[in-house]
Formats: sequence, structure tokens, C-alpha cells
Amino acid sequence: MDINSSTKLYGIFGHPIGHSFSPPMHNAAFQKLNLNCVYLAFDILPQNLSAAVNSIRQLNIQGINVTIPHKQEIINCLDEISDEAKYTGAVNTVKNNDGKLFGHNTDVGGFLKDLEVEFGIREFSEISACLIGAGGAARAVLSGLCMKGIKKVVIANRTKSKASELANYFLKRFSGIEINSADLKDHSEIKKCLENSNLLINSSSPGMTGHDPLNIPLDSLPKNSYVYDLVYNPKETELVKQAKSLGHRSASGLGMLLYQGAESFEYWTNKKAPIDVMKKALGNN
Ligand code: NAP
Repeated sequence: MDINSSTKLYGIFGHPIGHSFSPPMHNAAFQKLNLNCVYLAFDILPQNLSAAVNSIRQLNIQGINVTIPHKQEIINCLDEISDEAKYTGAVNTVKNNDGKLFGHNTDVGGFLKDLEVEFGIREFSEISACLIGAGGAARAVLSGLCMKGIKKVVIANRTKSKASELANYFLKRFSGIEINSADLKDHSEIKKCLENSNLLINSSSPGMTGHDPLNIPLDSLPKNSYVYDLVYNPKETELVKQAKSLGHRSASGLGMLLYQGAESFEYWTNKKAPIDVMKKALGNN
């Protein structure tokens, strides 16, 4: 790649950021489309976020992805945000339009796109989901499911009060949808939740490399259900393996990562993202 005085700059703000899969994915896409653009990772401490966002304007950075721990806080520094970002209460993509900063959340579309690609799910009126976790990723998942008009969701979290808060937040915005909360530590509550679901989504951290696996009575899920694990490191989690062995259709979060990246790319460049090239770049990590 030739870097010169016309090269446009993109990047990701996070802390820590060394683990990010986004730079190889976006740089591969820029190269494939012969765009004079480069994507870098910036390690931004929370106390420096506002100055870093100002630098987007000062340095004419074209677009930024945002990851932990800045997804919520950055909203206060932006000029406008999309509906997806509003419902989620988080931004993972910023576009610089001549100094005006727009925030969007492509985790929502990335999650929905991967459910469609992996399971063929486009219609949600007959789907009852059990969603594990109540953090930032859970909010993106819930936004997508509610915007698509899902029939029913139970949010199960280790800290039940957070699941209840999330349920109330979304009930106020999507009054037609049945949203309940459960205590992930209560075995019988989780068992009941799984028995009444046909889609299980893990948006909590267990299962990640270096963490304990998720411990739930997966055999309570009805036969031929769908299991989606947002965790993508390792590429196939214990939950996905176990779900496959029980005959469920199951996928990990690598596809969501790919499609949120593709949506960010298209949001910034107005060009169709080269999915195959981006997927290959992710696979090399
Ligand atoms: P977060 O905001 O920090 O939330 C973490 C969630 O995990 C909380 O619900 C937390 O419960 C739960 N948790 C943590 N440790 C736990 C344990 N030992 N047992 C049970 N629950 C536990 O993080 P996040 O941004 O939502 O991310 C969560 C996961 O999703 C991460 O693995 C991340 O890599 C993945 N993710 C994937 C994608 C993708 O594109 N595939 C996108 C975003 C995130 P408490 O409320 O009780 O603390």
C-alpha cells in the first residue's frame, strides 16, 4: 500500500486495543477496492476520549470504530446518532461529514445479518429468545430483535437487576413485545427459560478464551433450536460445540464481527464491502 499526502485515515478507538481484528479486516477491504485509505488502532484511555474525538475533526479522520470501554460515553461527544445507536445507547461507528460527526451502531445490523446468513432467520414473529447477558452487546442484540418485531425475549443475567433494567428500558420503547428477565444463577429459572425458547443467544463473556465456559442446562432447549454465541475467540466455543452435538443449528460471533465491519465500511465509503476478502482477513487472525 502506498501512503501519500492524499491517504485517508480510518481507525478504531478502544482500551485495550491490541486484540482488535478490525485493522486487518478493513485494510484488506481498502486494498481490494484500491482505495487510498488506511485503518489504524488507537489505544485511548477513558479520560482522553473527548480529546480523541476532537482529533477526528482536527486531523480530518474519515471514520472511526469504537469499542470497549467507549461505546456509550462517546455519544456525548457526537453531533447526531442513528436510531440503532439510540435504542442501543451505544455507538460503534462514527462518520466524519465535513467536521460533523454522526454515530451509528452496526453491531445491530451485523447480528441480524449473521442470523440470516447462518440460520436463514428473517422473520421473528414466531421466535422466542433466551438472551444471556445484559451488557453492551446484549443491548445491540435486543435492539435488533425488537426492531424486527420478535415475539418474546427473556434476558438472563448473572446480575438479575441489570437484566430487569434492560427489560424495562426496551419495554418502554417496544410496548408490543413480551420482555422478561431471569437470574442466570437460578438453575430452575434458566431451565424454564430454555424450555420455552427456540433461539438461545449468548451475549455474555463466559466462553471467551481465558474465561470459564458458560454453564447452563442446554439440554432443556427444545430440539432443532438455534444457538448463537456472540463470543468469537475461540472461533468455536464450547457452547457452539455442545449445541451442535445436541442437534441444534449453532454459530459463533465471527460472522457478526464480519458483518458489523462490512456495514461500517459501507457507511463510510458508500461502496459495497468486499465480504470474501474481509472474511479471509478475519480468518487469518
Ligand atoms: P460487557 O458490557 O462487559 O457485558 C458482559 C456481560 O457478561 C454482562 O452481562 C456480565 O454480567 C456477563 N458476565 C461477565 N462475566 C460473567 C460470568 N463469569 N458469569 C456470567 N456472566 C458473566 O461486555 P459486552 O460488550 O456486552 O461483550 C460481551 C461478549 O460479547 C464478549 O465476549 C464480546 O467479545 C462479545 N461481543 C461480540 C461481538 C461480535 O461482533 N461478535 C460484538 C460485541 C461483543 P454482569 O452484568 O453480572 O456483570
